[in-house]
Amino acid sequence: MNPIDHGNNQPKRPSFNDDVPKPGPEVYVLRMPADRTITFVAWGDKLRGFDVHWLGNRTAMHFEPAEECEHCLKNLPSKWKGYLHVYAVELKQEFFLEFTKITASAFQHQVANPDHLRGCTFRLKRGKSKNSRMSIIILAPVTVETALPPEKDPRPCILRLYGYSDNQIAEWLATGPTPHEEW
Ligand SMILES: [Zn+2]
Repeated sequence: MNPIDHGNNQPKRPSFNDDVPKPGPEVYVLRMPADRTITFVAWGDKLRGFDVHWLGNRTAMHFEPAEECEHCLKNLPSKWKGYLHVYAVELKQEFFLEFTKITASAFQHQVANPDHLRGCTFRLKRGKSKNSRMSIIILAPVTVETALPPEKDPRPCILRLYGYSDNQIAEWLATGPTPHEEW
């Protein structure tokens, strides 16, 4: 064997990479932490949701049509996750606040118009234990909406977290209301 030809046993080498990594997301996802009370102002107008599958150790996106979704074909359980663009008052920072279906449903029952949340001020409180229920208090149905910064779309941020490329995300967002009709 030619001593220069390493075949499959290439020596280890560093990864030279001139592409400057992109900075992190502009807006982070917030899961309501245990043992905390946080006041939020909705900057988004409605909850934006996805159906995802639970793979045992992580979640993966569900895709329509369901008969072509690899996780549906394996009968893996699915669940819904919703996101609302919010400003967290005490943290002085904007987030995409994550809702479970139970919290989202409780929240929507308390607001006058679930499709027009922008300007709604509310307080979430979670107890100490990991599975404690969240309490929701609506403080002001709608404050002066025109004074708020514009809504940001949580979809690119969430899809990036799931590992999809910017090209793929742009294509999905351009081709319409997938994976969920009410986008
Ligand atoms: Zn599926």
